[in-house]
Amino acid sequence: MGNLLEGKSALILGIANRWSLAWYIAQAFVREGARLAITYQGERQRATVEELGAELGAALVTSCDVTQDEELAELTSSLEAAFGKLDAVVHSIAFAHREDLSRPFLETSKSGYLVAQEVSAYSLVSVSRAVARLMAQGGSIVTLSYLGAVRVVPNYNVMGVAKAALEACVRYLASELGSSGIRVNAISAGPVKTASARAVQGFSSMLDHVASRAPLRRNADPAEVADAALFLASDLGRGVTGNVLYVDAGYQIMGM
Ligand code: NAP
Repeated sequence: MGNLLEGKSALILGIANRWSLAWYIAQAFVREGARLAITYQGERQRATVEELGAELGAALVTSCDVTQDEELAELTSSLEAAFGKLDAVVHSIAFAHREDLSRPFLETSKSGYLVAQEVSAYSLVSVSRAVARLMAQGGSIVTLSYLGAVRVVPNYNVMGVAKAALEACVRYLASELGSSGIRVNAISAGPVKTASARAVQGFSSMLDHVASRAPLRRNADPAEVADAALFLASDLGRGVTGNVLYVDAGYQIMGM
C-alpha cells in the first residue's frame, strides 16, 4: 500500500472485466489510497462490474453510457453526493463496429465512422464537461490512446482516426482547463489482450511483432499502464498536461 492518492477521489470509466486496462488502473488507484467510483454501460455488464466494484471497495458503482447526456448528468449528481469533489478521472472507453476493424478503411461507412468518433473521442469532451465543476480545486483527466492515432496500423482503421481526434481533444481540453488547475493527458498504451483489442483483426500478430521489435523486446504490461495513470493522476504529474505518454516498451521510436 502506498499513499500517492491518499484523500483523493477518482472516477474510472471503462471496466468491463478483469482484462480491462481500467481494471488494472482501478487496482493501482486503490493500492495508493484513492476512493473510487466506477461505471458500467447498461444492464449487460451490471453484475460483473458490481462484483469487481465490491472487490475494489468502490464507494460508487453506477451505470453510464457516455453517449447519453442524461446518464452523464446523473453521474455528476451521484459523484457530488458520494464525494463532494473529484480529483481524478480515467476515461478508458472506445468502440467501433467489428467490421470496420477488418475490412479496408476505404469501405468505412458514415455511420461506422461517426459511432467510433462519438464513443471513442467526443465522449472525452462530454465526460470532461460533466466532471469539471466537481474539480474546482483542480484535478487530472487521463484517457487511453494507441499508436494507430499517428501511424498506420493494419486493420486499426477507423479507430486510428478516432484516436487521432481523441489526442487532439486532449490538447484543446488541456489548454482550456489548465486555468482551472485541471490537467488532461493521454496514455498511448502498447497492445494488451482485452475484449476491445481482440476485435481488431490480426491482433495476436501485433503482440508478436511488438515483442520482437520494441526496444525492451517485450510487450507493455497492463500494470505498467496503470502505474503511468497513477503518476498522471497524482501530484507527481503536477507539471504535465496536454501530453501523450507512451507506455509501449518503446515500440513507437522504431523506424524499421
Ligand atoms: P475493454 O476492456 O473492452 O474496455 C473498453 C470499455 O469501453 C468497456 O468497458 C466498454 O463497455 C466501454 N464502452 C464502450 N462503449 C461505451 C459507452 N457508450 N459508454 C460507456 N462505456 C463504453 O478494452 P480495453 O483494451 O481495456 O480498452 C480501454 C481503452 O484502452 C480504450 O480506449 C482502448 O482503445 C484503449 N487502448 C487499448 C489498447 C489495447 O491493446 N487493449 C491499447 C491502447 C489503447 P462494454 O464492454 O460494456 O461495451
